[in-house]
Amino acid sequence: MTHSFAVTRNPSPASDADRARLMDSPPFGTVFTDHIAKATWTLKGGWGDHRVEPFADLVLHPAALVLHYGQQVFEGLKAYRWADGSVHLFRPAANAVRFAASASRLALPELPEEDFLASLAALLSVDAQWVPGAPESSLYLRPTMIATEACLGVRPSHTVEYLLMASPVGAYFSGGVQPVSIWVAQGYHRAGAGGTGQAKTAGNYAASMLPQQQAQDNGCGQVLFLDAKEDKYIEELGGMNLFAVLKDGSILTPRLTGTILEGVTRDAVITLLQDAGHKVIERDIELEELRKGVSSGDVDEIFACGTAAVITPVGRLVSPDFDYTVGSGHSGDVTMALRERLTGIQYGRVSDTHGWMRTV
Ligand code: PMP
Repeated sequence: MTHSFAVTRNPSPASDADRARLMDSPPFGTVFTDHIAKATWTLKGGWGDHRVEPFADLVLHPAALVLHYGQQVFEGLKAYRWADGSVHLFRPAANAVRFAASASRLALPELPEEDFLASLAALLSVDAQWVPGAPESSLYLRPTMIATEACLGVRPSHTVEYLLMASPVGAYFSGGVQPVSIWVAQGYHRAGAGGTGQAKTAGNYAASMLPQQQAQDNGCGQVLFLDAKEDKYIEELGGMNLFAVLKDGSILTPRLTGTILEGVTRDAVITLLQDAGHKVIERDIELEELRKGVSSGDVDEIFACGTAAVITPVGRLVSPDFDYTVGSGHSGDVTMALRERLTGIQYGRVSDTHGWMRTV
């Protein structure tokens, strides 16, 4: 049974003028809409109190389990405004499934898929005017689940809060798509076998911040993690999956090992590349193989993909031992054609032959 979300309207929503100002190219994830969707779980009663409220700070006990042991999971997806004014989500059910899988790994209760989808619809029903219409802009949706029980003992929380917030985001690349430089993490790994790499949980991102800082200190925008066991195979970036386009048109991406996040964009990209006639190979890829390929020109293009930046060309591959320009160092043709195709589907410019878009 789908729960309906009871709506309490914000008595003082942003004025049209304020909203327009706030939505004009804000830094990613810094502006929030007038409302938030919530549901509360208790060990005894299960999920209840599904609601939409005015957006406000949380009241949390200082001993709330999430603050001490990171029992938390989250998701990220976007709502897109089409030229006719309608609003559409990209594969929200895939995010619902991953949210439940992440929750299960963190010993949190699963939110039923229909309630996840109902929360998106409920929030968008009151905050639809926050979905921007400018090119490449969207409303970023952040479902989150946190352990709220006050308890310093290390055990799963008996109370949990589901929160869905929304944040209007402008074009990721304000001056047109720019290739990013990636830094190969040195001495740090994101996830190991049996760990939480496959789950979308705060701790993975906390662990990525120091290597990400090192990437920035070395003039790179993103960090590339290698596997923890052999420190040899490429896994993913801090917040994106990675693909390499070979000279013969075939395309490589790391196989899903349980330590990599199964990107919704990654999955769509594989399908779209296959539609375009490319052979896509999911397998273990040694950094050494990638390095040699980039150096010899056998690797023509590298790109990263994820909800936030969609498809991002990689222009440089950098470590203390090497600094390679990938292909021409500019955005490659395969990468840009794919980007055009995917954003075309998301913004309703091209036919959604895979049935990925959901109207709200
Ligand atoms: N890997 C990581 C670690 C991420 O945080 C993300 C962003 N969710 C991705 C990959 C890409 O996933 P998606 O395409 O579902 O956004």
